[in-house]
Amino acid sequence: MDGMIGQRWAEVRAEVPAGVEVVAVSKTKPVEAVEAGYAAGARSFGENRVQELVNKHEALTHPESGRPEAFQGLSWHQIGTLQKNKVKYIAPFVGLIHAVDQAGLLDEINKRAQAHDRHIPVLLQLHIAQESSKFGLSSAELDGIVERLDAGEWPHVQVQGLMGMATFTEDDMQVAREFTGLRALYDQHGPARGWNTLSMGMSGDWRIAVDCGSTMVRIGSAIFGKR
Ligand SMILES: *Cc1c(COP(=O)(O)O)cnc(C)c1O
Repeated sequence: MDGMIGQRWAEVRAEVPAGVEVVAVSKTKPVEAVEAGYAAGARSFGENRVQELVNKHEALTHPESGRPEAFQGLSWHQIGTLQKNKVKYIAPFVGLIHAVDQAGLLDEINKRAQAHDRHIPVLLQLHIAQESSKFGLSSAELDGIVERLDAGEWPHVQVQGLMGMATFTEDDMQVAREFTGLRALYDQHGPARGWNTLSMGMSGDWRIAVDCGSTMVRIGSAIFGKR
């Protein structure tokens, strides 16, 4: 298993342009898969379940794991939908929360970040897909949140950019339209606020996402194999 992960990581990393960060999405895979990814050079790992994220942190990077020196620079990304009542479990260590889609979640992240004397980096998730199952803010809701951010709400939250998931379809043109729309929102709001991250693209659509201006791709199965 380890050899394949290292090889696939190297292939993906070589193909993704240098300025685009690759988040290795290790959800459902064992701790050993994260170790193999780290050994191959991956530094950001994405998980979508809080319990699994906490378990892997405790195994590898928690101060009491006995191993944190071995995994220096490893950053844990919460990429999936996050419930308010689970923020407290990841607040001490999470490196980036990708899927913030409501003001109430910002309230909670701010409160927990403050309690740990941290500033937690987050991305705001936009609803760009033609599917009701995908979460995210509308562009009007984004305007409302940005206004409140500019007014100084949530001082312990560091909004760094936007995230979105395109429709799961064979229609590359549609996927490109959705990613381009997200890039336009990023260009509208980001420059004045110092944003630096546009998280879009997964194993099946990252090439389109990069062509549309992604700065961070979230790649799972193409590195770790089928789930
Ligand atoms: C699972 C997941 C990914 C990675 O998906 P792959 O198709 O395996 O690359 C990316 N982003 C989110 C939000 C996910 O939940």
